[in-house]
Amino acid sequence: MSNKNRPYEAIIIGAGVAGIYQAKMLADLGVNFLAFEANDDLGGTWFKNRYPGCRFDSESYTYGYKFSRELLEEWDWKEHFSPQPDNLKYLNFVADKFDLRQYFRFGCRVQSMLWDESAHLWSITLASGEVYQARFVITCLGVLSKKFVPAFKGADEFSGVAFHTYDWPADPVPLSGRKVGIIGTGATGIQIIPEIAGKVAELTVFQRHPNWSVPLNNDPISSAEMEDIRSRYDEIFATCKKSQGGFCHLPMRRDYTDTTPEERREFWDELYERRGFALLLANYRETFLDAQANRELSAYVADRIRGRVNDAATAEKLIPTNHGFGMRRLPLETRYFEAYNRENVRLIDLNETPIEGITQTGIRTVAQHHDLDLIIYATGFQAITGGLSSIVIEGADGQVLNDKWRDETSTYLGTMTRGFPNMLMVAGPQSVSGSTNYPQAIETGVEWVTALLRHTLAGQHTRIEASQAGEDFWNAEVAFRQDQMPFSKVRSWFTGYNPNAAAGASDFRYNNYWGGVPKYRKFLQDAADEHYSQVEFS
Ligand code: NAP
Repeated sequence: MSNKNRPYEAIIIGAGVAGIYQAKMLADLGVNFLAFEANDDLGGTWFKNRYPGCRFDSESYTYGYKFSRELLEEWDWKEHFSPQPDNLKYLNFVADKFDLRQYFRFGCRVQSMLWDESAHLWSITLASGEVYQARFVITCLGVLSKKFVPAFKGADEFSGVAFHTYDWPADPVPLSGRKVGIIGTGATGIQIIPEIAGKVAELTVFQRHPNWSVPLNNDPISSAEMEDIRSRYDEIFATCKKSQGGFCHLPMRRDYTDTTPEERREFWDELYERRGFALLLANYRETFLDAQANRELSAYVADRIRGRVNDAATAEKLIPTNHGFGMRRLPLETRYFEAYNRENVRLIDLNETPIEGITQTGIRTVAQHHDLDLIIYATGFQAITGGLSSIVIEGADGQVLNDKWRDETSTYLGTMTRGFPNMLMVAGPQSVSGSTNYPQAIETGVEWVTALLRHTLAGQHTRIEASQAGEDFWNAEVAFRQDQMPFSKVRSWFTGYNPNAAAGASDFRYNNYWGGVPKYRKFLQDAADEHYSQVEFS
């Protein structure tokens, strides 16, 4: 099938948080568009991540869209950190309220995109072989949508059940009486482990590196509290707007150096009991920026872990030694450390005893064989660029995006990349989407992309491309901000580490804009105010 006789003005790829809002904006703009989604329904990350314990770690009322007052009035959040099933319901509620389903085609994986320079059109080929044409393509692919499964020797021979957390089945997974192994202790593993520890016969955690983690302190929202939140939405969003990461926590105004160690401990005790990212974001700025202050805070959190884990040797294994507190993406937990006090939970330190391979009946480390019925791969994602790199995108002059970005990611404002005309990225690489409360970041991107389209259509232009000067400027700004970050030399997806990278590729890339949401918003606003001087129109 094809629409060659009547190309769409725009095609959106992705029906997650970004794709849904982008569809709303294009519907309001009145353009003829369609949206493809590889999954069988909308929701993106909240459609796919169905593992036990999956929930927001941004406060629910800062995660919802704020473009519609009516929507804010109508939707009640039930918990301070809403669980995945409710988040998926919310996104469906939004799509239905604004009648957006009509634009989406589900089960449609985009395989390739080819730019036709003579017609100024993209040809989009789906996995089914169908080809569609569109003037503009807007990618809304998410930052964590391409799972990473390590290639363990013998993995195919395992006779039990095995899956990555991104593929956790929608139907209940029998856990009772089962011997379960989980590989990975990032934010996902840390959410799952305490949730299933009491439900399985045995849980073996295979940990390569521990992560710092502090309590989420989630609790239900009563209807009276929801009314109060609703009355304060303007104030809450104003705080998020000021925050570097778009969260409702602002840093402590007082200087760390003006306080005594006792005062600091007292303050940290209070933050440890607060909800969400308080210990990271509402702390003294120096605890993030200054190495000595960061060491002191890390020691504080390490003591907290020691105080919660009964076995001293296990506690030490759960304390990171290769990075300070907040220097990788901070997972938030609910009784995670207490899970290791259970008789049926065992921690395997893969630095001491690496995995040799997977067998028919379990996992073999260099020390012993672990019999398992279920293996959970909580091994993360090919972050930020994974969605785009899964599509073969051939732009002007036959250049392929994966070739352009082989050694370094390169964009203009995280929204366009030179050589790929009429391709706009929402929450793309080098935007703030990887470092922030996601909806707060995508909102800015969706609105900018829509305004640029409006401007382009009003000028009757059929081709837009980022200028080389604009892209050079943005690459330098992204690099400058990342290099200033205290974690710039810590290997993680924050600093561009890609577990699927080709041999010899750098573990560090400039994939994220670390100047913060307010600065990023200002750059976008300035570009629009200057009538997109770094975009070439024809
Ligand atoms: P992740 O943070 O990348 O963690 C992957 C884990 O797998 C790490 O512990 C890693 O160990 C381990 N691993 C990878 N390859 C391995 C191998 N070959 N052998 C042994 N272990 C291996 O992934 P994630 O936990 O899925 O989280 C990704 C991101 O998703 C988070 O940073 C967060 O932004 C988002 N997330 C958000 C929420 C939420 O609450 N909103 C919840 C979950 C996830 P190393 O550390 O040694 O590499």
